Amino acid sequence: MLNCKGHSVELLADGKRISLDCRGENAFVSHAHADHAVRKAGSLLCSKATLDLMQARGYSPQCANAASEFKQDDLCVTLSSSGHVLGSAQLHAKWDSTSFTYTSDFKLGDSLTCSGAKVAKCEELLIEATYGLPRYRFPPREQTRKEMADWAKRRQSSGDVVLLGGYSLGKAQEIVKLLNDYCDTAPIVPKDIADVCRIYTAHGVKLDFLDAESNEGIKAMKHSFTAVIPHHKMTPQLASDAAALYCKRVSCAVATGWAMNSVGSERFKSFCLSDHADYSELVRYAEESGAKKVFTTHGYATELAADLRKKGINAIPLGQGRKQKTRIGL
Ligand SMILES: [Zn+2]
Ligand SMILES: [Zn+2]
Repeated sequence: MLNCKGHSVELLADGKRISLDCRGENAFVSHAHADHAVRKAGSLLCSKATLDLMQARGYSPQCANAASEFKQDDLCVTLSSSGHVLGSAQLHAKWDSTSFTYTSDFKLGDSLTCSGAKVAKCEELLIEATYGLPRYRFPPREQTRKEMADWAKRRQSSGDVVLLGGYSLGKAQEIVKLLNDYCDTAPIVPKDIADVCRIYTAHGVKLDFLDAESNEGIKAMKHSFTAVIPHHKMTPQLASDAAALYCKRVSCAVATGWAMNSVGSERFKSFCLSDHADYSELVRYAEESGAKKVFTTHGYATELAADLRKKGINAIPLGQGRKQKTRIGL
């Protein structure tokens, strides 16, 4: 059974309550993005990398214990990669003769820093729906990476300061890796991104970068340079401030799935590179899981559930705008 209140969802399995990406006595944290991290729990279910990332990002959770699997009587809860960011996990629960999977944020394709998720066979599925509209079918990732690298090399050889924006956890690290591998560049990054890059490196994903606060970083910024900055800081105002500060032409780009809506211009570009499944992957997961019941959550949950129903899958959106406590039998 799923117990749902607003955006808080709890799995009731074999007499045990597990909060899914929200506060609770037993809380599962799928990954260390702010909207999923939990600051307080009795016991925490998450990967070691997620725990390290939560600590590095200042969400240090207060909890009595943390583990990456749970077994009690008939109930067995395990995690597997969700392919979203370092440490991101899907939750799989099995008890009696039923099985449940919560994908949380996921993608099936590999990125440069994270291998894709595997589809889990299950009776009941709770799947994210961030890009749950048919218009969100992303181009092949390698094609986008090449376009980004070509653009960055072009702007670098014009002598520009090149700024690339991505979320501080996940996208920023993939952009750093792309610049390392495709452009032979170790970009400058601010402290919050550097801290996360160090955790990636500690978990086996080697990244070359210069901390903007280091002597090397400060020296590098005296010439034309390439930097990776948090997505939300990438604004036309920042570009003009940077141009005035460094007396150089500045070219900017962001990497996001929402680039499907606008590609921008040569000097302020958007590349379609997402850490989420696109519409095709969402449908593929729901179909290949063989789930008899599918719940959709986040983003276009209503639209995705309607499309899945048209394909003969028993799907409903979960918790969208519902203030009252609802109980949905799984
Ligand atoms: Zn996320
Ligand atoms: Zn999310």
